[in-house]
Amino acid sequence: MVGLVVVSHSRALARAAVTLAAEMAAGARIEIAAGLDETTLGTDATAIVDALVAADDGDGVVVLMDLGSAVLSAELALELIDDDLRSRVLLCPAPLVEGLVAAAVTAASGAGRDEVAREATEGLLGKLSQLSPAPVPEDSGAAMATVTVENPHGLHARPAARLVTEARRLDAGLEVRNRTTGSPWVPATSLSRVATLGALRGHEIDVRASGPGARAAVDEIVAVAARRFDETPPELDKISEWGGSVPVDLDLIEGNTTDTGVRRGQGASAGIGIGPAWRRSNTPPPVPDVPSRGTEVEWRRVEDAVAAVRLEIDKIWAGSQEAGIFDAHLLLLDDAELLGEVRQRIEDGQAAPQAFQGAAARIAAEFDTLEDPYLRGRGDDVHAVSDQVLRAMLGISGAAATGDGILVAADLTPAEAATLDPERVLGVLLAFGSPTSHGAILARTRGIPMVVGAGPAVLSVPHGATVVLDGTTGEFAIAPPESVAAAFRDRAAERSTRTNRAATRAGQPAVTADGVTVLVAANVGSVADARAAAAHGADLAGLVRTEFLFLDRDAAPSIDEQIAVYREIGEALGGRRITLRTLDVGGDKPLRYAPAPAERNPFLGVRGIRRSLAYPGLFADQLVAIARVARDMPVSVMFPMVSTVAEVIAARRMLDEAIGRAGHAEGLRVGIMIEVPAAALRSAAFTPYIDFVSVGTNDLTQYTLAAERGNAALSADGLDPAVLRLIQLVGTQAGVPVAVCGELAADEAAVPLLTALGVRELSVAPPAVPLVKEAVRGIRLELAGPLAEQACGLADANAVRALLKPGNVHSGR
Ligand code: PEP
Ligand code: MG
Repeated sequence: MVGLVVVSHSRALARAAVTLAAEMAAGARIEIAAGLDETTLGTDATAIVDALVAADDGDGVVVLMDLGSAVLSAELALELIDDDLRSRVLLCPAPLVEGLVAAAVTAASGAGRDEVAREATEGLLGKLSQLSPAPVPEDSGAAMATVTVENPHGLHARPAARLVTEARRLDAGLEVRNRTTGSPWVPATSLSRVATLGALRGHEIDVRASGPGARAAVDEIVAVAARRFDETPPELDKISEWGGSVPVDLDLIEGNTTDTGVRRGQGASAGIGIGPAWRRSNTPPPVPDVPSRGTEVEWRRVEDAVAAVRLEIDKIWAGSQEAGIFDAHLLLLDDAELLGEVRQRIEDGQAAPQAFQGAAARIAAEFDTLEDPYLRGRGDDVHAVSDQVLRAMLGISGAAATGDGILVAADLTPAEAATLDPERVLGVLLAFGSPTSHGAILARTRGIPMVVGAGPAVLSVPHGATVVLDGTTGEFAIAPPESVAAAFRDRAAERSTRTNRAATRAGQPAVTADGVTVLVAANVGSVADARAAAAHGADLAGLVRTEFLFLDRDAAPSIDEQIAVYREIGEALGGRRITLRTLDVGGDKPLRYAPAPAERNPFLGVRGIRRSLAYPGLFADQLVAIARVARDMPVSVMFPMVSTVAEVIAARRMLDEAIGRAGHAEGLRVGIMIEVPAAALRSAAFTPYIDFVSVGTNDLTQYTLAAERGNAALSADGLDPAVLRLIQLVGTQAGVPVAVCGELAADEAAVPLLTALGVRELSVAPPAVPLVKEAVRGIRLELAGPLAEQACGLADANAVRALLKPGNVHSGR
């Protein structure tokens, strides 16, 4: 009997369709390859292979698919099976439900493969005749209408994206053409093809569709066009003459300001930045000339890179009010025209990077032929997306950040932030981003002032326009009037006086006005950071983020390489203690050479110590390296993202094994990071196994407030009373010294509070050490104690910040 295979994104849908078919044709042989698991939507070529093998008994197999990647995955599966089976399999374009029912009935009657497929394909005929579709115009054989484009810039990226999204949703074979210019018909589901219509304001666009839903689909498109493709009036008014698909707030530009022009984002790295705006160069990444490793491997590279870029874009724009304007980029990642050509090129023998670059260049070139300069500029979107995909494919971090002045960007990955040169980059202004992202942390480490969450309008700031920003308050202005520029210069001068004064005694201990010593340590990620920490007077390295040695490379560092780097860090700190945090990857820090399975929510997934315990080989090597170095210099080891005692016991067992291999290390101290509320609530339970704890307020804040730390829309504040209560609990119950190494430790306003809550070590970015020491010296615990108690009971972080006015907690020295 001919076997049937149902390929669907949804396991539930596939099962329901099979149940329906079985009602009509008991005995049909039907296999399912659907969903990534019971509830996750997706298709998987290897599951389809298994289903094909199971469905085949020698009489042939007919495959019915839902849409999009179901078809691509089924095609890929065909390549994975042997020639003999492939010759019996037929991918059938029939509609899934009607086709499956017809196919099941036909197969169960003993018909041959081709007849089963034909019946399936004609499965819609019954419905068509019963519903007697509306009469259709002669020339198309389907429903058709003509709309007029009313958007000022025609069908530019955003309205085109809206049209394509709608066309894809309707799934009715919609096609469009520019009647005014006499263009050919193109699929309305392909952004790259729709953009090549060159549809300007006033142009007439023909829309047609076929199939039973044709009339309704065309009517929907007519309605969307009448709504100007949902481009709202404020955006219509704000389209920039500089181009780009980003609406511009004209208030940002001198001459259009109604006040001083000062806007407010969020402060992410203290300091004043003043300089000309520049943006990263969009030089395409170099594509190496390497041969194809086979269709399957190369296509998988494309799929992986596209998925990674989609995640990147989703992450940057997540929660943004303006997320819709980047739909164009997301749609390009899914563009059947683009991916179809990439696939074809791969099948013709090209490697994935060449195939993607070639296909994208061909499509971008189509834009060059358009008359309208605005639409012609949309080729830039194709280039931008293509460069991003190529970077992901080739493992190249973002465009190098090598300009002079104020870097203006959408967001900053840790790898990009690591390339910032503080001599040249005077400040960073990000449209999105968050103060506790790892990109922001690196900017602080380099002492580069940064404001995040400034809004997408800043992405259209002209190259060279003067930008002023305050990385403490989050204020910024573009092309400010002289009075505003002068005010920012005054702030810079005042800060520099304060910093210089603090620097003169940075090497001395930080002791409160009432005699309590607080260690002020540095967070470091490299040997250079360690040198900076020593230069700024850090008492120790309270957090060495060892993962930066592991990221952005193709293989893990060897034990010897790790030993050399850890030793160099210790030496750079002149023999002061270094606290080596074990590998903390997952979440926003992926490892190329040890890719983890995709997780629905990586920040709640196999991160930190969970990941180390799941990959014991990497972890064991790192522990041996740490134990060896601890024999020569004062070293602490600390486990990140601990949530249960069992994890600490397992990690300590592995540490003991490592010490067995490396030899006993006298001064090695063992600690955990408190980053998860569960660990804070039960800190006393960890005491028997550790010598110290360090509170990672960046993660503790995100997990306490359920606010992902990179999400600009949430801007969770570590001074939230819920977080403070947890720190207070740790301070009173941990029974071991308590440090804070999250970014809150560097917040001068928070220093008295943390100290009053029992924290005796503050670990901060190296440039912040002198000012934090000064803040400690200004504390009177007899005043700060009651204030901390009061803060824990307040309504929110804003109320806490208001309470922490300097006069309330400082001695006034
Ligand atoms: C923290 O979470 O506060 C912390 C210091 O660790 P990281 O920022 O590296 O996650
Ligand atoms: Mg953390």
